[in-house]
Amino acid sequence: MGEQRTETDGRTVIIGAGIGGLAAGHFLEKAGHECRIFERASVPGGRIQALRKGDAVVDVGTQYFHTNYVETLKVLEDVGLRDRLIPIRAPVRMIRHGKGQLVKHTTVRLKMIPLLSNLRIARPVITALRNLKRIDPYFNSPLPEFEDVELSEYILDKCDREVLEFFVRPIVIAFNQSEPEGESLAHFMRMMKQYLTASDTCLPTGMHSFPEALASTLPVVYDAEAREIVVDRGRVTGVKMRIGEEEETIPADRVVCATPLKEIAPLLPGLSSEEKSVIDEYTYSKMALVVFFMKQRIPDDFWAWVFSRTEGFRAAYTSDALFKCREMIPSGKSVLQVWYVGEAGEELVDEDEDRLVALAQQEMKQLLPDFDDQVESVEVVRQQTGMSRYPVGIYPRLRGFLEGMKRYTGLHLVGDFYGHSTLETVVRSARRTTDSILDGKRTQ
Ligand SMILES: Cc1cc2nc3c(=O)[nH]c(=O)nc-3n(C[C@H](O)[C@H](O)[C@H](O)COP(=O)(O)OP(=O)(O)OC[C@H]3O[C@@H](n4cnc5c(N)ncnc54)[C@H](O)[C@@H]3O)c2cc1C
Repeated sequence: MGEQRTETDGRTVIIGAGIGGLAAGHFLEKAGHECRIFERASVPGGRIQALRKGDAVVDVGTQYFHTNYVETLKVLEDVGLRDRLIPIRAPVRMIRHGKGQLVKHTTVRLKMIPLLSNLRIARPVITALRNLKRIDPYFNSPLPEFEDVELSEYILDKCDREVLEFFVRPIVIAFNQSEPEGESLAHFMRMMKQYLTASDTCLPTGMHSFPEALASTLPVVYDAEAREIVVDRGRVTGVKMRIGEEEETIPADRVVCATPLKEIAPLLPGLSSEEKSVIDEYTYSKMALVVFFMKQRIPDDFWAWVFSRTEGFRAAYTSDALFKCREMIPSGKSVLQVWYVGEAGEELVDEDEDRLVALAQQEMKQLLPDFDDQVESVEVVRQQTGMSRYPVGIYPRLRGFLEGMKRYTGLHLVGDFYGHSTLETVVRSARRTTDSILDGKRTQ
């Protein structure tokens, strides 16, 4: 692909074949600039993962594309997938006092919380609306007055515990896999702006077909782990790699590091203690997911049950892959995904498989009494690096970190640390990075 090769531009190495590294490779190759991508795993996609069983494809990482994505949709178009997106419109069911309460996109009043609590939601909404223009999901404009405010304290102050437990917590858990405690209010505002101005779509062949399509057009080397970025007098000169069983140094004039932030520390020599502590504190959620393949369709036409800690569930929510996208499950049988994320994800990510399945079964039985008899088979998926989290106070420090990285000539970072954990954040950062490479400039 690409029109004209520009060999004089030097050698570009990309670390990571998640959507960030692949999008960067795609933009560079499209402009005729050669690159090589090195990926530690044996498949592309990173956090975009699929579970395949018989003819069923289940998304077990990234779930959907939002309709307000811009750069991502253009890349989907380039690889011929944009026309295949299908909308997801099913409602969500919230559990309170053991009863399910349907929440549709058009719901005006949340019936699981009292009327007064519904009215109290108006106060933070008005603050958000007043600042709407300044709220940028992609990290471009600072929001200093909200960055050091803790989300749960803010909601308890402006609203009440009902709003925290039955409105804000389910949103933060479902959209960010974290808990309101410790999370920055600015991050919540950025995330809500991104979600509330869009609806969801997905690919019937699975979200994973997006990185697969991109990778098939690019020079990706698998089972290739970057061990160290070699820097000589402030300039990047190569990457020490393990490729299969071999150790090798790949010469490079520039390196695009498209890994989660926590993977960068071991790669870069000469990080300050402040830089290391930013990497440590900018954490990622952990997740344990129990996937039940059912003997038949669960006769309830909704997208997800959302639980609450006050109901005694440890699972944050359960979704039915069949209702998300029927085309992905040709058998027409339900595939129930029980998600342990947020606090439960931290606690259960390394839990023994049998105990995890037993817990999920016991929780599902509270919703479907004959659940055990309906299960055909079960799989467990774990993820140590889930969605990025923005603890209070991290924004200015993260900006300082990214500014500091400019001292390494030839180093470029791509990732979802430029905003909320979404494909669009990552693809935009890939676009910005590759534009700066192609312009011969350096803007991180
Ligand atoms: C459960 C879940 C659900 C999500 N849902 C959505 C959603 O619905 N919509 C949405 O837009 N976003 C969603 N996201 C977020 C989205 O998946 C991520 O923001 C995005 O995939 C991150 O892409 P990335 O390329 O930056 O990182 P990654 O996908 O993490 O890719 C990084 C790659 O680098 C490789 N790597 C790391 N270190 C090295 C090394 N030293 N050498 C070589 N290779 C290395 C890794 O193996 C990996 O393949 C979700 C995330 C999770 C976890």
